[in-house]
Amino acid sequence: MIIHMAPGASIEQVERVINRITSDYGLRCETIVSGTTVIGVKGIASVIDDGRITELPGVDRVIRITEKYKDASRNFHKDDSIVTIGGRVNVGGGNLTFFGGPCAIESEKQSIESAMMAKETGVDVLRAFVDKSRTSPYDYRGLELQKGLEIAAAMKQATGLPTVSELIDLRHLDAFLNAGIDVIQVGARSAQYSPLLEELSRIDTPVVLKHGFGNDLNEWLCAAAYIMSGIDREGRVTGSGNRNVILCYRGIKSFESETRFGADAGMIPLVRMRSHLPLLADPSHSGGDRKLVERMTYAFVAAGAQGVEFDIHNNPAEALCDGKQAVQHEAGRIIQTARKIHSMLDGIGIETGSSVAVAAK
Ligand code: PEP
Ligand code: MN
Repeated sequence: MIIHMAPGASIEQVERVINRITSDYGLRCETIVSGTTVIGVKGIASVIDDGRITELPGVDRVIRITEKYKDASRNFHKDDSIVTIGGRVNVGGGNLTFFGGPCAIESEKQSIESAMMAKETGVDVLRAFVDKSRTSPYDYRGLELQKGLEIAAAMKQATGLPTVSELIDLRHLDAFLNAGIDVIQVGARSAQYSPLLEELSRIDTPVVLKHGFGNDLNEWLCAAAYIMSGIDREGRVTGSGNRNVILCYRGIKSFESETRFGADAGMIPLVRMRSHLPLLADPSHSGGDRKLVERMTYAFVAAGAQGVEFDIHNNPAEALCDGKQAVQHEAGRIIQTARKIHSMLDGIGIETGSSVAVAAK
């Protein structure tokens, strides 16, 4: 349930509404002030009688959310959310942010050389992937945990860039955080694994949530809401949830066998319309071929992606994982050109249903 206060509603009127919801119904509220005040009710709002809210002074209207992904929905939060990584890199809004680096940490030499290459090209956040979720158990699945994390820390130290790493095993979360990983990625294969999503709702470390390759938009945004809502199995709000969620599109399984996954450019403005969360796209894991990465990057950015994550490897021919889709120094040109496209389209805005949102600079 979302309660829109009338323009000019007083603080006392807002407090009275919040008080009714919290004391009478034991639910929690989140208030967003942007022009007018909007109050989002957390928990099972079906217990609330609408009339007991609309009768209160200063209330303009009450909207019941039918979408099952309330916290991730633009109906709940009109403005673009901006997630800050490592205290300095902003993702979302009018920012265009690049995440890049090797698909996997293979050795110290390969990782540091790839990290330095990624830094030279201008990436903002470095991929430092310790655990790899692979389709076949015979494929390369990463180094032993501690060794991998030491190299991830060395990559961060050598470049000064914040790092992103995929968490597959819940038992590794503390080790990741202790090793200074700045962003936790939830991979396409884990995108609906609720124990993992629930655990990530208990921290405030930024999370990149991939689009599961068998999921539709509703399932993807519901997964985001798992991380954001802080709601337990009985519908009680037991935590504040993790607001720092970044979405990353990578396409779904399609019948086309010559691209790795089917990426639909229309999903980019559609997701931006439905959700306030920052949206990246991954041209390496969707196209699956470095020859496609440059043009796909431009297409995603032109469609409204607020950043891109791709594979950059120092020596793709020798890569143990996904070398075919990794770019090298040309990532620098790709990033610069994508920035030009982004600024050329600045001001066009994104449909948000009732209005067009031009991202805040
Ligand atoms: C990755 O980013 O390394 C990855 C495995 O991607 P996905 O989860 O989209 O397959
Ligand atoms: Mn990969």
